[in-house]
Amino acid sequence: RITEFITVGELAQKLDAKPQDLIVKLMGMGVMATMNQRLERDQIELLVAEYEEMEIHWLDTAAGEDIEVPGEDEGGEQASRSPVVTVMGHVDHGKTTLLDYLRETKVTEGEAGGITQHIGAYQVETRRGTITFLDTPGHEAFTAMRARGARVTDIVVVVVAADDKVMPQTVEAIDHAKASNCPIIIAINKIDLPAADPMGVKQALMQHNVLVEDFGGEVQAVEISAKQGTNFDALLEAISLQAEILELTAVSEGRARATVVEARKDLGRGAVFTALVTRGTLRMGDPFVVGPVDGRVRAMLDEFDQPVEEAGPSRPVVILGASDVPQAGDQMDVVVSDSEAKDIARKRQAVQREQMLHAPKKKTSLEGLFE
Ligand code: GDP
Ligand code: MG
Repeated sequence: RITEFITVGELAQKLDAKPQDLIVKLMGMGVMATMNQRLERDQIELLVAEYEEMEIHWLDTAAGEDIEVPGEDEGGEQASRSPVVTVMGHVDHGKTTLLDYLRETKVTEGEAGGITQHIGAYQVETRRGTITFLDTPGHEAFTAMRARGARVTDIVVVVVAADDKVMPQTVEAIDHAKASNCPIIIAINKIDLPAADPMGVKQALMQHNVLVEDFGGEVQAVEISAKQGTNFDALLEAISLQAEILELTAVSEGRARATVVEARKDLGRGAVFTALVTRGTLRMGDPFVVGPVDGRVRAMLDEFDQPVEEAGPSRPVVILGASDVPQAGDQMDVVVSDSEAKDIARKRQAVQREQMLHAPKKKTSLEGLFE
């Protein structure tokens, strides 16, 4: 179980061989190497091929596979968790209006004078439980996360303006959701407009294999006005219903794992990032590694900028204490000590450096993902 670009010394240890033996073998391959030389994938494969009883399992550092979380194999006890929802749709069909309305009316309900901060995700309380909304601009964060195997979204709400048609980004949103096996809920928006034609939208969706309940399908469609807040309770109800069908669970005890939703450098506070807990419970003071960055949870805040002592699955929190700014889609893992965090971070940085040197940089596109 190794990552690419490990050193000759590290590989020797894994193979239970003498580094000198590897150095000699490399020499035979025309490679002059030292103990600390980092090896490329094909060099590692050639070397390991010489050890018949050995087989390579490549670890994905981005997915945190190089970190052993104790108890993870046993799985731990599964507890139910709230759904994580992403809102997608064509430009100007009302995503921002919908998310803003929810944040302003639903999040602050019951929180006296609470003002929500933009942290990239927030939770909404409904009669049937909590719903976590990812509130990241555009589809980029979603694409970035998917490209890196991070799957945090359980349900995709596709917003379609009733006075418009099914547009390219509507189709893209549907494709995204289908590719990641997320159930879709259609929010037919702007029904307050005289030109609104919800029936036309539902028909158009059929051509993209989205069959709504009215037409005998299984996809829920809710007619809303994001501007006026019409039918938001029905939309939340639809999400809760879908979530119940999914029977979402996660291990809520033990060391936390989370996915970065948003990150930035704050002038006063340094690296600040929002993470969505996917496993275990995150606590103040936890040492962690997030992508190639190490840190320790120095402060944890909710969407009201209020301190949070601990956060379990599906809970988004703002975290202070990373030594550098991570990237959206990075996995955060709590480890046992600061030194372990530093150690893993340093190894990942080395791997990244080598990867940058060896691989041509490719841009992530949806097309690329499907290929
Ligand atoms: P986004 O690009 O999908 O984020 O769309 P926005 O939320 O920015 O909305 C685009 C435009 O549509 C804005 O001018 C909104 O005020 C307007 N809009 C959004 N929802 C509604 C609605 O339910 N009714 C009406 N009449 N206008 C809406
Ligand atoms: Mg917008």
